[in-house]
Amino acid sequence: MKPPSDDEAKAMASTFTPAPGGQPPKLPSFVVASDASKSDTPINDKLPSTQLGYIKVSHVLIEMDKYAELIDPRSRFVDPFKVADMHRNAQPITYVLPGSNIQYRKSDTVRNGFRHAVYDQLTANRGEGNNRMVLTETLLALNNNQLSIKSCPILACDALIEHLVFTPKTHTHTCPKCGGTVYVTDWLRLHEGISDFGNNTSAITRMMNAVEHLLLSAFILELLEANPVALSKIAFVMDGPLALFGEPAKLHPRIMTLIDNANSRLTSLGLEPLLVMGLQKTGNVMDHALLLERFLPNGVIRIIDDTYRQTYITGSDKPAEDFGYESYYGQDFLFKTERGRIFNFALPYPFAGKGSGTRTEFARKKVEITRYGSLVERACDLIRHFELDLYDNAIVPVALAHRHASISLIPGGKVLDLITKAGLNR
Ligand SMILES: [Zn+2]
Repeated sequence: MKPPSDDEAKAMASTFTPAPGGQPPKLPSFVVASDASKSDTPINDKLPSTQLGYIKVSHVLIEMDKYAELIDPRSRFVDPFKVADMHRNAQPITYVLPGSNIQYRKSDTVRNGFRHAVYDQLTANRGEGNNRMVLTETLLALNNNQLSIKSCPILACDALIEHLVFTPKTHTHTCPKCGGTVYVTDWLRLHEGISDFGNNTSAITRMMNAVEHLLLSAFILELLEANPVALSKIAFVMDGPLALFGEPAKLHPRIMTLIDNANSRLTSLGLEPLLVMGLQKTGNVMDHALLLERFLPNGVIRIIDDTYRQTYITGSDKPAEDFGYESYYGQDFLFKTERGRIFNFALPYPFAGKGSGTRTEFARKKVEITRYGSLVERACDLIRHFELDLYDNAIVPVALAHRHASISLIPGGKVLDLITKAGLNR
């Protein structure tokens, strides 16, 4: 990537079109935003080769009504009691994983211990009260409650075990060859990057990525079952692209199918499709956007097709053959708001799957903007609504209101509790 010449930049800018917007703006009643962070540093400086991984996922629920009420219109100040009230629910969800040189539950290798820990962590109920939030169950539900694993994940065994079926009642199997335990969560293949004494940072990153998208799926599944009306009133905002990379990438078509199924259900009920949005603050699309920014008028949008990406962003010599085919379930857009800020957001591909056609065919269909229906407009409206509060640091009360209007929640239970309490059906 290099800075474009003026002529090049003008040519690129001319392919942007005016961004759609609702009159009045089409805003959701609730926004659930997720963000994850991780830590995989050695347990202490004297033992640099002993590593534990921590993953923390926070979900914030913003009730649009309450968000608007935070500032008292008579005084311009944020009401601290309302803020405290919202803030009381803050509680993130954490996962702890054994990295190098850690023996988990008497496992013989770090890798086997890691597999066991992934299973334990994903099988723990993270919900509260009556709301279950068990990601192993989500994983199974995404696969029609039947999973099989090709070969034994235990090193040096590799027996073919495809005939062993994992279901909600059968989470583990004993390998007929080596006698080791195989967990349903081995399907994610997160352990494949694990070594006994090496750096296991990338496996922890993959786990974080998988957990974020499994949590999104768990919310959608739960609400689709319990309250589809509520589902259509929520916008989900993910930090990062709508994609899963590396070993767990094969989860992405399942999530794509789930979102498409949810939308078919909502449409049949006469409801708006679900707004799931990935927001990318960094990455090569954003780098490109920043180079191009000054050439773009305000209030324009462009869907990033593969030819554009190849010509202007990745500069690849290879012919465009459906970018992200193995990992992405969402399409990138570049949006410069009327206030002049630039955003790279993604919306789920509006299909149940990538189809049996050629990759080129899918590459063409995924950038037909009309297929996204009202979602492009709604995504733009959501960004417009929050951009001021999120990034305009000059107005401190508003920035504060934003920070405190964001409630960290135990995923699942708490979000559902609050939605219920707020009387979505009123
Ligand atoms: Zn085995």
